[in-house]
Amino acid sequence: MRCPDCNKFVSYADDFEVEVLADEVIITADDVARVYAEIRIALACDECGTELKETNFEIEEIEIDLAGKKLTEEECELEFDLSPLAQWAGEGRSTKTFYGFDGTVILVSGAWKSKPAQISDRSLASWMDELV
Ligand SMILES: [Zn+2]
Repeated sequence: MRCPDCNKFVSYADDFEVEVLADEVIITADDVARVYAEIRIALACDECGTELKETNFEIEEIEIDLAGKKLTEEECELEFDLSPLAQWAGEGRSTKTFYGFDGTVILVSGAWKSKPAQISDRSLASWMDELV
């Protein structure tokens, strides 16, 4: 797409931003924590850094085993380690591009840390919202 700032047809920077907008932990009755998160990715112009497209992901299928530990939701903090993800499927004119994120989340309570849980999602590039 054409960037309004540098007025060129540009590609997106590979190291786009992955941002956790909101997160929440719900402890379920069976010593399992369910993680909810709202994660935003934004694709920026490779030339000037202006944000061109964004999308938000709602994560709610992630479960973390508390290994028998009794925790309250107030004692839990989440640490995300997420990387930008770009994937292509198909060939030639029918190539589809996906952008998203990939990584882990762990639950931290004082000195205790859970095992990392995989967290990943992606969106078809053409479904993303244009910012300009
Ligand atoms: Zn630009």
